[in-house]
Amino acid sequence: MAKRRKLIAGNWKMNGLKADGVALARDLAGRLRAAGGLPAELLVCPPATLIWPVAEAVAGSGLAVGGQDCHPMAGGAHTGDISAAMLAEAGCGHVIVGHSERRQDHGESDALVAAKAAAAHAAGLVAILCVGETGAERDRGEAGAVVARQLGGSIPAGATAANTVIAYEPVWAIGTGRTATPADVAEIHALIRAELVRRLETGSAVRILYGGSVKGANAGALMAVPDVDGALVGGASLKADEFWAIATSCP
Ligand code: PEP
Repeated sequence: MAKRRKLIAGNWKMNGLKADGVALARDLAGRLRAAGGLPAELLVCPPATLIWPVAEAVAGSGLAVGGQDCHPMAGGAHTGDISAAMLAEAGCGHVIVGHSERRQDHGESDALVAAKAAAAHAAGLVAILCVGETGAERDRGEAGAVVARQLGGSIPAGATAANTVIAYEPVWAIGTGRTATPADVAEIHALIRAELVRRLETGSAVRILYGGSVKGANAGALMAVPDVDGALVGGASLKADEFWAIATSCP
């Protein structure tokens, strides 16, 4: 089986205005050009208003650009929403769906996440599909069951290793500075791999990212865990040095 290339994805969330966002993206693109590329694939997911200028600023550098969410429909009367095709036209090749902040803040269900991922696929985007348990669920010993249930409900028909990436993000580790131990990560990533292999023909080739307070100092240990195929990075992706340290920690 071909080696899975690691993916380091930055989720800027609702942070950044044009000058700062474009400068950050240019900085990363410049480092990528100077390095002649990296073993890992590098992606930034800016707020929707910055996708177009960021995509223009980094064009040809190898730095990929993605969205943070998309609507499940291709178009219509959905005020404030953005379709997957609109993201693609603006320069995206990826979109995050089902992030825990959207599941919590907007009550997104597994079924809605599956519909968003299907919409992403239809527009030619790679869906980065997030799953992860809350702290209370982990304390009750339900982490594995929650993640398996989310995968079952959120992976759409037609998902393949080429159009889908899974991000395991324990909710209690996001933005808290608390990181899952490599042993915790190994256990859940093995479970996710088994589910993917059971559900999808190309399940062994689907990349599984870890997310939750990843930074330069802990990236090396996390990226060395079996079945960790990269990282989804929030806070540390807003600092070029930190994000670059994570990106270059991958063999
Ligand atoms: C995230 O938002 O996907 C995330 C992992 O955030 P942080 O790295 O800040 O924990």
